[in-house]
Amino acid sequence: MNLKRIIAILVVSWLTSQAGGQPVRNELLVPDIDGFHTLKCDFHMHTVFSDGDVWPLTRVSEAWREGLDAIAITDHLEYTPHKKYVPVNHEAPYEIAKGPAEQAGLILIKGTEITKSMPPGHFNALFIDQASPVHNDDYKQALREAKSQGAFIIWNHPGWKAQAPDGPKWMVEHQELFNEKLFHGIEVANYDEWYPEVLDWAAEKELTIFSNSDIHEPMSDYLAQKKTDRRPITLVFAKTKTPDGIKEAMLAGRTAGWFREYLFAKEAILVELLKKSVEVSITDTNEKNITYKIKNHSDLEFDLHFSANQGNKLLPGRSSVLVTLPASDDHDRVIVRNLLYKSDKPVETRLETLQKP
Ligand SMILES: [Zn+2]
Ligand SMILES: [Zn+2]
Repeated sequence: MNLKRIIAILVVSWLTSQAGGQPVRNELLVPDIDGFHTLKCDFHMHTVFSDGDVWPLTRVSEAWREGLDAIAITDHLEYTPHKKYVPVNHEAPYEIAKGPAEQAGLILIKGTEITKSMPPGHFNALFIDQASPVHNDDYKQALREAKSQGAFIIWNHPGWKAQAPDGPKWMVEHQELFNEKLFHGIEVANYDEWYPEVLDWAAEKELTIFSNSDIHEPMSDYLAQKKTDRRPITLVFAKTKTPDGIKEAMLAGRTAGWFREYLFAKEAILVELLKKSVEVSITDTNEKNITYKIKNHSDLEFDLHFSANQGNKLLPGRSSVLVTLPASDDHDRVIVRNLLYKSDKPVETRLETLQKP
């Protein structure tokens, strides 16, 4: 028996033991958009190799069962409180998780968290070769080293209360890093919060949008405590389901943040996701009114507001609603209140454009 086969058996038996006899993956339904695969990802999580509570394999198992396609384990370089029991080894989380992730068909991106006080705060460096050389007291040197390794860099949780008690602030230091292209993306959502100002920064400065869990505890604890069935997710629209495909999409700004009921992305991406998710048909029409059936094939939800009757309809994942609108010009105009490309700019469209020919 070769090594690969042994690893495969170990991984399957381990996944099986984790899920009470049956490894079950919850497949998240999010449609592809034209020309791109939609990948469900989380690029920020911790293990016992920094201040997390779990072993790296657990992050793979959780992500697989939750229907994710790609993850990055991003332990802190500067903060290793378990070092009395767990050796400080910045390469270990990736090395430990790599084989099992491969066996599970999950893309694992090597990453680390550069952890500085504000300014400038915390940054995730993704697609690095080696984490240890990124460890540097000088934050600019740390970011430059990551960049020299070809990293895609994200400014993490700019509105985290512990570092930004008055809300996110774009300081001189951030402008300097931005000018030197030492970060390319930003977390609009992190853990259990999202930052409206940061969504506006992303739109104005063309920063790639992220929604990441930054999970430290077992994910089951988070889901129970936050009364949600889904972690924060970054959707990546990639040409190929590969690390290179994901990196290309990030550099091109083709992502969306999926946090609770919200979707944050560029307007064109949000409209595409809406079009691919819903199917609109007319079920009844008379002189006064037109009745539409709106069916949602995806796990995304849509909070619809109709200007014609000032009514709202919530269209949850995998469901249909009927709406009757007065038959006037422009009657089918709809605002999708939870699809935001700026903090005060929801997607606005017409039901007509969502009808299949
Ligand atoms: Zn952090
Ligand atoms: Zn973190």
